[in-house]
Order: sequence, then C-alpha cells, then structure tokens
Amino acid sequence: MSQTLEIVQAATKLLADWIVPDNCVLCHLPLARPWAEPAALEDHLCAHCRTAVTLNLQSCHHCAMPSPSDQTVCGRCIVSPLADYTLVPVLHEHYGAYLIKRLKFHQGEREAKALCGFMLTSIRLSYATEESLPDYLVPAPIASKTMLSRGYNQAYWLAQPLGRHLDIPILNGSFKRRNGPAQRTQTRAARMRMPADTFTARRSVHLKKQLAQRHIAIVDDVLTTGSTVRLLTNKLRQAGARRVDVWAATRA
Ligand SMILES: [Zn+2]
Ligand SMILES: [Zn+2]
Repeated sequence: MSQTLEIVQAATKLLADWIVPDNCVLCHLPLARPWAEPAALEDHLCAHCRTAVTLNLQSCHHCAMPSPSDQTVCGRCIVSPLADYTLVPVLHEHYGAYLIKRLKFHQGEREAKALCGFMLTSIRLSYATEESLPDYLVPAPIASKTMLSRGYNQAYWLAQPLGRHLDIPILNGSFKRRNGPAQRTQTRAARMRMPADTFTARRSVHLKKQLAQRHIAIVDDVLTTGSTVRLLTNKLRQAGARRVDVWAATRA
C-alpha cells in the first residue's frame, strides 16, 4: 500500500473516530486509539477488558482441552486425536461466553473481531513461519434452517478477518450440514452421537482436486465435545487433505 494511501486512511479513521467514537464491546466505554495502524485488526476492546478475558493458556495440542499440568496431549487424544493441531485461545466462561452469545444471537460482528484478536495472537505464536500456516480456512458449516433464521454463519464471520489478516483463502460452502436439532438444546451424550452423514461434500470431484495434499484449518466459534469438528475433519481427510487443524474462539 502506498504511503499516501496509508496517511489518507489513518486521517479518515481519525476523523471517523472523532465524529462517531468506537466503544469497547465489553464495557462500552469509548475507545481511543487514534494512531492505530490502518492494516491492524480492530478488536473493539479496551486494554482493561482485553486483559479481563480468561485465556486457555495450557491445553492439549490436539483438542485444546485445558490441561492442569504441562501435559501437551490429553488422555483421549493419545488414543484418538481430534485434529493435527487445535488452537482455542479463550475459555467459554464470563466474557468469553458473553462474546460468543453476542456473536451468535445478536449479529455480533464486532464481537467476532474481538474474538479474532485473541485467535490472531495465538496463531502468530503457534505457527513459526508463514509457510507453516494452512492453505485454506474452512468455516464450520451451519444447517440451512439455522442460516435462514440467523441470516449469517458465525464461523464465517470469524474466518473472514482471519483470512484477510493472514492472507489465507476461505473455502466456504464446500460442505453442507444437514438440518437437525440445535446442538445447544441437546445433552452432551446426544452431541457425542452425531450422525456420520451430518456433513456432505458439494461438488466432491472438484473439492478433491482442491484439497489434495493441502493443509486446512477448520474455523468454528465454540469447541465443546468436538463431535462436529471430528466429523468435518474426517470429511476433509477423505477428500484428500494432508493436515487438518482446528481454530475455535472459545473452549467449553
Ligand atoms: Zn472495555
Ligand atoms: Zn486432547
């Protein structure tokens, strides 16, 4: 980007912030960041609230289940790892749970950016080089019935800023999720028994060419039992993906 364009963008932002100041998504106080880099992700959080969010600092590398010791693989993943690598920076409690609720049920696009801020920090710490980053991001699909009532896929709202900042293309709509009862209305046991045909690949021949030997990251909002991503991971592997990682915002 040319320097003139950057100066114009910074000046426009400064003016816009002065006319309509941005507020923190948690405490709602005005945010003052006049000299923020135009290319930086605006996470709509003040410095105080950013530190008040509970982070998932020590967890299993394959399923991001919080680990009380410095054990990097949990008992379940020793037998059957959820994914090649799973990254979930925030715990699904207090502010983390509130941000997800806003994202899912109140068209929380600003809350999505707040969660993406934590995800980006964690991604940059976890992937040593740009070459080690995934080739594609796959937002976890939602059922058509949910899409109709909600109007958007919250996983796509997370994948979009991540893809833009990391320069990774998004594969959206490659898999279809069948309609069924909403997961939040089901017991943990029922969630664990998700039918194997929950996801189907669209245009599978084309998809196989696209995914062959590729490194994929599934992007989702909350990781709970992991049943959803396990099924999707299997589908991606069947379609030829070499490595499948999972990036979610909060760990329940
Ligand atoms: Zn705040
Ligand atoms: Zn694990």
